Amino acid sequence: MINHLAIIGVGLIGSSLSLSLKQSGYVKRVTGCGRSEDNLKKGVELGVLDDYQLNISEAIKGTDVVVVAVPLGAMSSVFQQMQSSLDESTVVTDVGSAKATVLRDAHRSLGEFFPQFVPGHPIAGSENSGVEAGVASLYQNRKIILTPEQDTSQSAVAIIDKMWRQTGAEVEMMSVEHHDRVLAATSHLPHMLAFSLVSHLSKMSDQDEIFNYAAGGFRDFTRIASSDPVMWRDICMANGDALLELIEGFKNELSEIAKAIEHKDSEALFELFRDSKHTRDQLRDL
Ligand code: NAP
Repeated sequence: MINHLAIIGVGLIGSSLSLSLKQSGYVKRVTGCGRSEDNLKKGVELGVLDDYQLNISEAIKGTDVVVVAVPLGAMSSVFQQMQSSLDESTVVTDVGSAKATVLRDAHRSLGEFFPQFVPGHPIAGSENSGVEAGVASLYQNRKIILTPEQDTSQSAVAIIDKMWRQTGAEVEMMSVEHHDRVLAATSHLPHMLAFSLVSHLSKMSDQDEIFNYAAGGFRDFTRIASSDPVMWRDICMANGDALLELIEGFKNELSEIAKAIEHKDSEALFELFRDSKHTRDQLRDL
């Protein structure tokens, strides 16, 4: 049981965690912190928060667990503001979608408290943002990846592991490098494809006509292009190397399709589509 939890950045991910832990009775008090008082007031109204602070060092005083759920580009400044009032019994975790830069930022700013920091990433979410997007069931049957370092306190890892399991999620451990490579492929690249497809079509002269006739396939493929631009800008900045390598590979794949179409190579096209269908069919339970 967590007596006092602080959530820095009360948006989709932070508020969903709070709602889930409150619903199961695993947390007694949740204090929120962010830049917008209206957002935090809304959090209290919606029962996501018990109270709030606009000042990070005030928000984390006397807490058992602090969850940092701000965009990746804001992590460093949040960690810096935490340092002066962290105490040795508080465990800190984050939910950032890329882990190497978060670890670097935490290492620089948390100093002696760094072993109390457990890097984490819930593999759950949606294209919606803000406190009102929070849902208690978001993490049910989803995976949470923790990427502790060698000097991360084992008891801190156990506290964060247990907190996430309370939400109905499954927790896995992974190295930071592995996490960032895998997530670049399964999450970051697909978002780049969705953003670029919508961007490309929106620049065509007959875009109104095109979007008018967009059906299920277009909707499914591009839903994630409605995701928060700040979050995705920050992910690209944080995981650029892994992402660039994948974009290069994808460009080659697309060129192969273009070449086969150009040369009317129906056999090559059929084989590629058949193999992809086979792979996708194996993933029906996703
Ligand atoms: P969100 O709904 O936009 O919430 C982020 C919150 O952070 C906002 O409520 C905002 O509140 C606060 N914030 C923004 N900039 C800040 C700053 N510079 N300093 C302090 N607070 C700031 O975003 P989210 O989807 O919950 O994402 C939060 C984190 O989770 C990100 O690191 C993201 O990579 C990660 N994540 C997202 C998903 C997803 O599908 N969305 C999935 C897994 C992980 P104020 O405006 O009041 O400050």
